[in-house]
Amino acid sequence: MSVQFHFVLLRNEIPGNLEIVAVTKFQEKNAIMEVYHTGHRVFGENKVQEIIRKKEILPEDIQWHMIGHLQTNKVKYIIPFVSMIHSVDSFKLLKEINSHAVKFNRIVDCLLQFHIATEESKFGLDMNEASEILESKEFIQMGNVNIAGVMGMASFSENAALIRKEFRNLKGYFDELKQKFFHDKPNFRHISMGMSNDYHIAIEEGSTILRIGSKIFTP
Ligand SMILES: *Cc1c(COP(=O)(O)O)cnc(C)c1O
Repeated sequence: MSVQFHFVLLRNEIPGNLEIVAVTKFQEKNAIMEVYHTGHRVFGENKVQEIIRKKEILPEDIQWHMIGHLQTNKVKYIIPFVSMIHSVDSFKLLKEINSHAVKFNRIVDCLLQFHIATEESKFGLDMNEASEILESKEFIQMGNVNIAGVMGMASFSENAALIRKEFRNLKGYFDELKQKFFHDKPNFRHISMGMSNDYHIAIEEGSTILRIGSKIFTP
């Protein structure tokens, strides 16, 4: 079956108000274009070098989402075009995004990445760190980032109950931040959670953006 067929099946299975970021890592132009030709325009990459390379060989009207860990020294390469950065995991990184966004006269949509998995290796903030950022005077004066919500990756596990608990925690962080810092800000509305193996659970737990790669390209 074709990539296009798998994408259309997936899109039809998922409620229309949920965004799908089609994750193109390890994929080349032809496969990505199959998804593009269904009318889909939202694609994601987890590496700076790849997002830049693919942006250059693919149509201009693709909205590129940066979903992987981002080093501060590479921010400048993606700010001119990136549509959303899912992986803001430090204040230092957010400051860097804002300062380059100022130079390019852009307001960049960002998600705060939370550490929700049991594994040590996954990046992300905890509630204290997120609150510290959002309470700070420096953040309040940042005019070129839009905090659009939160993102998280569940444990790499077969344990559905564990994954559900982690997604539920992320939804809890979202609700708490919404109430404390964004109650009058409708832009703060996204929960980016759910990948090929756990998106059913993520949808049930309140996801608004799914990041799906292998289920589309190598099912
Ligand atoms: C690769 C990747 C995904 C998609 O993973 P699949 O299991 O292929 O759907 C989602 N989010 C991030 C951050 C990734 O790196």
